[in-house]
Amino acid sequence: MGYVFTAPGQPVVPVIGSTDLFPVHRIYCVGRNYEEHAKEMGFSGREAPFFFAKPADAVLAVPEGKTIELPYPPQTTNFHHEMELVVALGKGGRNIAAADASSHIWGYAAGLDMTRRDLQAEAKKQGRPWDTAKGFDLSAPLTPIRPVSKSGIVNAGRIWLKVNGQMRQDSDIGKLIWNIDETIEHLSSYFELQPGDLIFTGTPEGVAAVKPGDLLEGGVDRVGTFRVQVR
Ligand code: MN
Repeated sequence: MGYVFTAPGQPVVPVIGSTDLFPVHRIYCVGRNYEEHAKEMGFSGREAPFFFAKPADAVLAVPEGKTIELPYPPQTTNFHHEMELVVALGKGGRNIAAADASSHIWGYAAGLDMTRRDLQAEAKKQGRPWDTAKGFDLSAPLTPIRPVSKSGIVNAGRIWLKVNGQMRQDSDIGKLIWNIDETIEHLSSYFELQPGDLIFTGTPEGVAAVKPGDLLEGGVDRVGTFRVQVR
């Protein structure tokens, strides 16, 4: 017995300072996890966070020190950046207590939850799903993963994004409404988490549109930095 056609490859993200690859299982994302971003999206900033997902093959690995092209996706005229800390799990589980959550973390990356904001706005208005707004091809550019053994636990530190040299998003991981441990506790009450899961932990304020030719440079302290150019 064999596959009826060639099986798709395993989506992977490189590990910094190593030839090892991190195999991606699922990509979970947290919505509205910084108060000022929730406000800019028209909410009070006090709602509980919620989750959505991207397909694993939405990852776009951005090697350190290189500039990678990010294609402008079809079916949008309002393509937004959302700069985020990404948590990479090395151990799965369900109903993980916040107090135990950090032992499930394998490492961290700095990433972009790229968003077709016009499609998201329409989906919200119509009560439709967000998949076309959030889960499109290459919608998750991210740095190589830095193992927690090198970074230490990241609960604070600057998170920033520049577009064409201008600072657009500039905040601190310490401002997460639901910190990483609490996020893992919540998420694991909905899903059995697996090694290889990535969690995009939410974006601070300052989200805005980009256009072809724009250079996006971003990073998270102690985690990594990236450069992507919209094509
Ligand atoms: Mn996001």
